Amino acid sequence: MAAVLAVGVAVADRLLVLERYPEEDEELRAEEALALPGGNAVNLLTVLARLGHRCRLLAALAEDAEGERLTAALEARGVDTAGCPRLAGSTPVSCILLSRATGSRTIIHHRALPEPTARHFAALDLDGVAWIHFEGRRPEATAAMMSRARERAPGARLSLELEKDRPGLEALLPLVDLVILSRAYATARGLAGPEEALAWAQERAPRTLLAVPWGEAGAWGLEPGCSRPCHVPAAPPPQVVDTRAAGDAFAAGLIHALLASQALPEALAYASRLAGAKCGRLGLDDFPLPPLAL
Ligand code: ADP
Repeated sequence: MAAVLAVGVAVADRLLVLERYPEEDEELRAEEALALPGGNAVNLLTVLARLGHRCRLLAALAEDAEGERLTAALEARGVDTAGCPRLAGSTPVSCILLSRATGSRTIIHHRALPEPTARHFAALDLDGVAWIHFEGRRPEATAAMMSRARERAPGARLSLELEKDRPGLEALLPLVDLVILSRAYATARGLAGPEEALAWAQERAPRTLLAVPWGEAGAWGLEPGCSRPCHVPAAPPPQVVDTRAAGDAFAAGLIHALLASQALPEALAYASRLAGAKCGRLGLDDFPLPPLAL
């Protein structure tokens, strides 16, 4: 199994499962209440740790009580936080209202903590790291981290997930080996569908492996130098319970399969099975992990 590093934001997720979405000013009793670690990089590492990889996180952790709880929850899930800077500020929180009636997931974020800088990244020992994943955030700092990663860990593969459309992120595409471009990003950029998203990304990063997950429609991928995308259908669980973090589970499955030297179509199919299994359970801690067909 491999050493994997992911860079992003560590969040305290507070999840309330409701029978239905409330009216404004209404009082309602939740069916379930959970406090879980969240954030794209954290979710990705949580799944990769369950798959047996040695996972390290670079994210800011606040010097508050919530930060201590979050650190303990990450360590309990096998995510090494030793390289995370402890900063003044408050732990990022996301409140999530999950409606059983419609399956909607309303998310409210609060962020008041600086993010790690290229200097924090430069302080990490990258010896033996096989894969480094970046959340698509702050383009300049991330580009500097990627350049450092190429210098200090020339054997490592780099990946980038584009979720929110932030100015300048497209400059990062050619700097990595794998780009996962989400439906949310594609939609925000006015790209009508997965094939348009792949063509857009390939124009900017002709030598990069590309993947576009698209919810229940499954996922599309494109190899460098290839003009015909491949598609894998979604693998729905018997009952869809929680699609939150499906994209992160998908990314973890893709990285796991690529680390095992699978070709893109097989890796996409595995990622799709893993993400589908995740949708059948609340959270990421106990959904069944499908075996990798070798
Ligand atoms: P995000 O979490 O970024 O919104 P998506 O909704 O695009 O991600 O889902 C990522 C992947 O998760 C999809 O490509 C698919 O494989 C799987 N997935 C998502 N929703 C479902 C669903 N309802 N049933 C089965 N698989 C799903």
